[in-house]
Amino acid sequence: MGPPKNICGAPPGPDISIDKVAILEVASKRTNGSYAALLASIAMHELGHGIGIDHNGDNDIDIAFLITSADCPPESFSVDEMGMAVIFNPPPPPGAHACVIWSVARRHGQHSGDEFSPMKYTSAAFYESPTDPLKRSGDGSYKVSISSPVESLETYTGTVYKYRADLDREGLGPFPDNNRGSGINALPGEQNHAGDSCRIAATQIHITDFGPDPVQQIPCPADSPRLERADICKD
Ligand SMILES: [Zn+2]
Repeated sequence: MGPPKNICGAPPGPDISIDKVAILEVASKRTNGSYAALLASIAMHELGHGIGIDHNGDNDIDIAFLITSADCPPESFSVDEMGMAVIFNPPPPPGAHACVIWSVARRHGQHSGDEFSPMKYTSAAFYESPTDPLKRSGDGSYKVSISSPVESLETYTGTVYKYRADLDREGLGPFPDNNRGSGINALPGEQNHAGDSCRIAATQIHITDFGPDPVQQIPCPADSPRLERADICKD
């Protein structure tokens, strides 16, 4: 049984704990759904981890540079306009733009699969194009201030779009027994957000550690006949 993941900053421990204040903050930014539905889907997600289910994928991007010959994607930041001094390795081609992208849902990543699966992530900032997905191209190094250490982010080429969080659904359905994408993950062409999941939730369910039996056994009378399990279970 996999340990419950840390939930919105709640301290890890043997129990599944959920930081209600953090969830309320997340819920307040949602334009669809409700606090109750979000809380329920997060609880289902963590219970899913508790019975061995992993995420639908692992390759989403937290934050990175996008190198593109087009303009920076809407709602991303342009490195030039931010006045960031970044040393790119390799240097971008002449005329290319460098942009900061974050919370990117990738093909078959954490946001992929069945729209109602409790294991599917919701609400990213961007998603990658199904036909021009992100490709790692190098690194960009920068300093936040003169005295701060050099930081580095991966660079990618490809196309990203604004993630349609307004089309996301809270994951309150069953743990899927297939990897088919639905909802925003089944839209045609470039609208398809993350496609099929790379894992099937239901087949990962694995419960082994019930722990010690909390029920006190009542000692059988010494002269009671022993009944073998085979006598009860004929099949
Ligand atoms: Zn998780």
